[in-house]
Amino acid sequence: MRTQVGIIGSGPSGLLLARLLHLQGIDTVIIESRSRDYVLGRIRAGVIEQGMADMLRQAQAGERMDREGLIHEGSNIAFDGRLERLDFPKHTNGKVVMVYGQTEITYDLMKAHIDEAGGIVHYDAPAVRVEGSDTDAPRIIYEQNGQRMELICDFVAGCDGYHGVARQSLPADKIKIFERTYPFGWLGILSDVPPVNKELIYANHERGFALCSMRSHTRSRYYVQCDTNDKVDNWTDDDFWDELRRRLPPEAADSVTTGPRLEMSITPLHSFVAEPMRSGRLFLAGDAAHIVPPTGAKGLNLAASDIYYLSRAILAYYKDRRTDLLDIYSETALSRVWKAIRFSWWYTSLLHKFDDDPMSRRLQIAELDYLVNSGAGRTALAENYVGLPYEKFE
Ligand SMILES: Cc1cc2nc3c(=O)[nH]c(=O)nc-3n(C[C@H](O)[C@H](O)[C@H](O)COP(=O)(O)OP(=O)(O)OC[C@H]3O[C@@H](n4cnc5c(N)ncnc54)[C@H](O)[C@@H]3O)c2cc1C
Repeated sequence: MRTQVGIIGSGPSGLLLARLLHLQGIDTVIIESRSRDYVLGRIRAGVIEQGMADMLRQAQAGERMDREGLIHEGSNIAFDGRLERLDFPKHTNGKVVMVYGQTEITYDLMKAHIDEAGGIVHYDAPAVRVEGSDTDAPRIIYEQNGQRMELICDFVAGCDGYHGVARQSLPADKIKIFERTYPFGWLGILSDVPPVNKELIYANHERGFALCSMRSHTRSRYYVQCDTNDKVDNWTDDDFWDELRRRLPPEAADSVTTGPRLEMSITPLHSFVAEPMRSGRLFLAGDAAHIVPPTGAKGLNLAASDIYYLSRAILAYYKDRRTDLLDIYSETALSRVWKAIRFSWWYTSLLHKFDDDPMSRRLQIAELDYLVNSGAGRTALAENYVGLPYEKFE
């Protein structure tokens, strides 16, 4: 089998890339290790930056997002018994974020790319490795129905997430890994109850961090900081709701509507970057190249900005035989990635409980108090949260 761009992974990065290239007449084949239903069932991110929302519109997969997504013009920070609102448009020249679940985005992209445009995705087909990335015809080796298969491509996009094989196919002596593991995780519940607030609440509390998020007016997503070794089985629904309420200021705690879980899971917190994001004709995008702790809501949005740069570079190659954008892909994408890694690390450090040292807590409260009382502080937080601009190319 042969195609122009072989894509490993049908998460948001892989589907968005395939869709954008398809609209420009470039052939792709996606190789995905899981089933379509499994990919659709994963509950993950929910806050979309304006840059990503624009990309979904450009991919002609943004119609339902514009109809059903919730535009958020601010978010709230709770600390020391206070609840402070951050106004995004005021501090970012009018920018906002959209709340729309990753599951919905994946569904919309699958519908547009596979069901309506006939794009090719091989499900239940794990890629094993990429060969020949330093040649003009790199190959994805994968398995399907117990058989070894080979997909020959002009380019390979490794969009196969943190545990994928694309990154492992890069020459080990050329790749540098940067990594930080945080000493806690997030216990999350998804429940069909109305959100406690129409905007997100990020809470710093002496018992640990909490986040009140949502997927719609009737579906809420809440998190509490937990031990890395904690297990979902240790928590009943009531335990979860009690702990959440303890970590919120009274006016929010009293308004929490509780209900049974649709899903409960624990997410470890991790920062990770692999540099460079390219070797020859193999390009990494999204979680295959970098992971951020979810505090700044950046993981999914970084996947979208990588695809913005990669799709333009591939298009410039097929349209004008230009290779300059391919050559600067890694550098350009990483410049934005590192800023998001920094923001996510900083916001995580500010809001979570790292130890029992009372000095650590006083320092956090002092910084939060400074932040909400300073125009510069509010601006720095707001412009990072709504997303830094994408670099434009001629
Ligand atoms: C539990 C969890 C919670 C998260 N919560 C948030 C959040 O609240 N906010 C936020 O911004 N981000 C969050 N993220 C991060 C966000 O979901 C990711 O950044 C986003 O999914 C990245 O998209 P991707 O397409 O690059 O990778 P993925 O979504 O991981 O997709 C990779 C795809 O590749 C497939 N694959 C893997 N290996 C192979 C192989 N060998 N062969 C073929 N296919 C393969 C996988 O099955 C998958 O479909 C969360 C992530 C996790 C894991």
